[in-house]
Amino acid sequence: MIQAIASRRPAEEMLVSVVMPLYNEAAVLRTLTSLVEDALQASRCRYEIVYVNDGSRDASAEILDELAAKDPHIRVVHFSRNFGHQAAVQAGLMFASGDAVIVMDSDLQDDPRAIPQFLERWREGYDVVYAVRTHRKENALKRGLFYGFYRVLNAVSDTPIPNDAGNFGLIDRRVAEHIVRMYDRDRFYPGLRRWVGFRQIGVPVERLARHDEKPRVTMRQLWRLAKSAIFSFSSFPLTMFYAISALSLLSCLGLCGFTLYHKLFTGLAIPGWASMTIAASFFGAINALGIGILGEYVTRIYDQARARPLFIVEREVNFAQREHEPVGALGEWSLPPLQR
Ligand code: UDP
Ligand code: MG
Repeated sequence: MIQAIASRRPAEEMLVSVVMPLYNEAAVLRTLTSLVEDALQASRCRYEIVYVNDGSRDASAEILDELAAKDPHIRVVHFSRNFGHQAAVQAGLMFASGDAVIVMDSDLQDDPRAIPQFLERWREGYDVVYAVRTHRKENALKRGLFYGFYRVLNAVSDTPIPNDAGNFGLIDRRVAEHIVRMYDRDRFYPGLRRWVGFRQIGVPVERLARHDEKPRVTMRQLWRLAKSAIFSFSSFPLTMFYAISALSLLSCLGLCGFTLYHKLFTGLAIPGWASMTIAASFFGAINALGIGILGEYVTRIYDQARARPLFIVEREVNFAQREHEPVGALGEWSLPPLQR
């Protein structure tokens, strides 16, 4: 238990933002909005809901505009195309004005009923309250992959990143401002959130089932995200080549000794082509792996050097009364203003 912070103002004065990125979630937007509003109203805080429409192709845009027209708490950022989940989270954090910002998925997998718990912990003085996912409903293969991913990441990461903690959680405004200011193009939000520090705590939250059976983040995108997490939070894959090269050198010396011994002392036939080709291809494979890993870092450096914005906003709805101008790296605001 940490000491309550005197600077947290009374609930009624606080603005809480809920940031929800979405791609083709028309079927649940109305239900989701009312569930989130119920949870927020119970907390007595002032609130805003920031939907980031990541280039949806279904009726999501119209439904969001309609919801926003009826309810000024609902604000919408429409991207000019699909830029991906992590870019949408970044945009949501930039556009959010809240003293606390809650990030959650828009597919009903993150339970809005956890929001009061997050707010309670935040009022106690925590700056980051993240959900630790329990009872995942994905199939056994995906669950196993997630389990393995978090453990591998933790083993190699330079920053310990909590196991089974995804995007869902609350961050204080100052944490949000630090995160949006980071120039990383290759973003893994739970890692960045951990990296900034401050007082953090995890609370167990059951991960619900998706409203439909079609995840919007594909397995390929998950694989890319897993690579981003590992390559941007660890240099272990590069440095492990020192160990591998030492091993290669040792086996090479061993092979040389073996061959020389037979040549000089036993006169036995030198082991034939098979062993030579096996050894050559083994070391070839190690080289190729090393080059591949270098490539991962080089492509990231290249991406970072081009410094394209992470997303482009086509239009904004209900932000006229916003309490903070968007800040942060990697949005259009980090570049000279565009003539629209
Ligand atoms: N999403 C998005 N852009 C994308 C893919 C997904 O904004 O390109 C949103 C999606 O609508 C959902 C959240 O990101 O609200 C998580 O997506 P999904 O449920 O597919 O991921 P999973 O829960 O399987 O990790
Ligand atoms: Mg989901």
